Amino acid sequence: MTDRHFDFWPDRMPVTLDIPRTTVWDNLAVSARRYPDRTAIYYYGQPLSYQLLLEEAEALAGFLQRKLHVSKGDRVLLFLQNSPQFILSFYAILRADAVVVPLNPMNVTEELAFYIKDCEPKAAIVGQELYDRIAPLNGSGSLNHIIVAAYSDYLPSSPVVQPPKEVVAPRVAIRDDGVTLWSEALTSGNLPGPHNARSDDLAVLPYTSGTTGRPKGCLHTHYTVQATLVGASTWVNLTPNTVALTTLPLFHVTGMQHSMNAPIFTGGSMVLMTRWDRDTAAELIQTHRCTHWTGISTMVVDFLANPDLAQDECGSLQFVGGGGAPLPEAVGEELYRRTGLRFVEGYGLSETMSQTHINPVHRPKLQCLGIPSFDVDACVVNPDTLQRLGPGEEGELLVRGPQVFKGYWNRRSETEEAFVNLDDGDPFFRTGDIARVDEEGYFFIVDRLKRMINASGMKVWPTEVESLLYQHPAVKHACVIGVPDDRRGETVKAFIVLKSSEHGKVSEEEIIRWSKERMAAYKYPRIVQFIDQLPMTGSGKILWRKLQDEERRNRKRA
Ligand code: AMP
Repeated sequence: MTDRHFDFWPDRMPVTLDIPRTTVWDNLAVSARRYPDRTAIYYYGQPLSYQLLLEEAEALAGFLQRKLHVSKGDRVLLFLQNSPQFILSFYAILRADAVVVPLNPMNVTEELAFYIKDCEPKAAIVGQELYDRIAPLNGSGSLNHIIVAAYSDYLPSSPVVQPPKEVVAPRVAIRDDGVTLWSEALTSGNLPGPHNARSDDLAVLPYTSGTTGRPKGCLHTHYTVQATLVGASTWVNLTPNTVALTTLPLFHVTGMQHSMNAPIFTGGSMVLMTRWDRDTAAELIQTHRCTHWTGISTMVVDFLANPDLAQDECGSLQFVGGGGAPLPEAVGEELYRRTGLRFVEGYGLSETMSQTHINPVHRPKLQCLGIPSFDVDACVVNPDTLQRLGPGEEGELLVRGPQVFKGYWNRRSETEEAFVNLDDGDPFFRTGDIARVDEEGYFFIVDRLKRMINASGMKVWPTEVESLLYQHPAVKHACVIGVPDDRRGETVKAFIVLKSSEHGKVSEEEIIRWSKERMAAYKYPRIVQFIDQLPMTGSGKILWRKLQDEERRNRKRA
C-alpha cells in the first residue's frame, strides 16, 4: 500500500498563527464576495452557492431583528439536524449580533426546558420533525417565538442519493401562535441593520457539563471561535478546492468547526448529510470527489464494515480525521490497509471550541491526541499538588491558548474552579482528563478525573441521568457509570436501589423503558442492575468510582 499522505504538509509548521480580529459572520461575507457562484453546500445533490447563503442568511437575520426583536447578545436556540437551515441559521444569528445556542437534536422536552430556563433564549429555530418536543415550551419563560424548518425545502427534484425520511418529508403548515415557517421568515422582506458585533463579543454558547454537575453553557466569543477554525483550516490545508464530507453533528463543536465553519472560512464546499449512512457516504464521496472527511470512530468502523468498499471509491480523499472520542488502534490500521489513509486524531472540548491537540498530518500516531495545536500551551500536572510532570508520567491535562472559553454562562464558582494559575501567564484550563506525554511531545489520554461517559463522542453526564432516575417513584438511590461497549466505546449503566415497598414490583426492563421516554437516545441507561445498597462515604456521598472499578474488574474476569 502506498501512503497517500501528504504532499501538502510543510517542512516546518509554524507554532503560532495570526487569528483574525473579525467576526465569524465576516468569514461568510468574505467567501461570498470572493466566490459568489461557487458551491458552498451540496445537499443530496442540490448545489447552494455562497451568494445564496449570504442572501438567505441576511434575510433571516432581518426577520430575527425586525420581527422577533432579537438584538445584540440575545440567545437563539438552534434545534435542528444537519441541514442547510442549520448552517444558514447559524450565520443569520451571528449576522444579527446575537448568540447561537446549538442543541443536540436528540433532546426531549424535559431537557429542553432546562436549557430554556438556563440561557433564556428569545427565539428558537427548529426542524419540523422536532417541533412537537419544543412546542409545549413556546411562551414559557423568555422563549416567545419558533421558526420551523422543513429540510425538503432545499432538496433537488432528483436527489443523487436517497435522503433519509425526515429530509424528504414535505413541509407541514404549522399554524400555532408564536410560530413562523422558514419560507415565510425568509420572504418577510426585512433587511438587517448594520453588523455591530466585535471580536470579543459572545458568539456561541455550546453546552457541556464540564467536570461536574448539570449542563453549563460555554462562553465563546468570535475570537475563540476564529482561533480553532483558522487553526483547523491551516493544519489540514483547506483551500477553495476543498470538498468536505460533512457527517459529524453540527451542534457539537467538532462538527461545527471542522465540517462547517472551516470550509466556509476557506471558500470550500461541504457535502452535507443529515444522517449518517455508510453507503450514502461512499456514494457522495465518489460523486463529489470529496477531499476531506472529519468523522468519529463509530462512523469509521461502520464505513470499513462495508465489505464492498474499494480503494478507488475513496480515491479522492486526502484527509480522514476526527476527535471527541478515541479511535481504536486496530481501526486506524484497517483504514490504512484498505484505503492508504492514516487517521489523524485530534482532541478538544466544548470549552476549547474543538481542538487543542491534533496529530501532525505527515506522522500521526494511533489512539493518540497528537501535539498541541497553534498557540496552545499544554502540560500534565499532578491534580492534587499541581506540580508539572515529565514525559511518561500520568496526570491532569491542562491547556491555555486563544481558543479557551471565557467561563460558564451564569456560573461564577464553576468558572473559577475550571481554571488554575501555574505561573505569571494566563491561567490554565483544567480539562478533567488524565493524560501522559511521550518523549516526542505527543499526548495520550489514559483516564478521566471527571464524571463523564463517552458514548461514540456523545457525552453523558451521570449526575444528569441520576437526577432524572430519582424522579421514578420506585427509585431510592441511583448511581450511573460508563461500561465498555464494542460499538459505542462506552455505554450507560445504572445501579439502582429500590424503595423497600417496591421490591418485586418493578423490573429492570421497566426502568429502561421509563428512562427511554424521558431522555435522549444516547443518554438513557441501556443496562440496569438492582442492588441492595450503594457504596457510600460516611457523609452519604455515593462512591461511583468504586462501582466503576469493580465493574471493570468483573468484566475483565468474565
Ligand atoms: P465535549 O465537550 O463534548 O467535546 O467533550 C470533551 C471530552 O471528550 C474531553 O474532555 C475528552 O474526555 C473527550 N475526548 C475528546 N477528544 C478525544 C480523543 N481524541 N480521545 C479520547 N477522548 C476524547
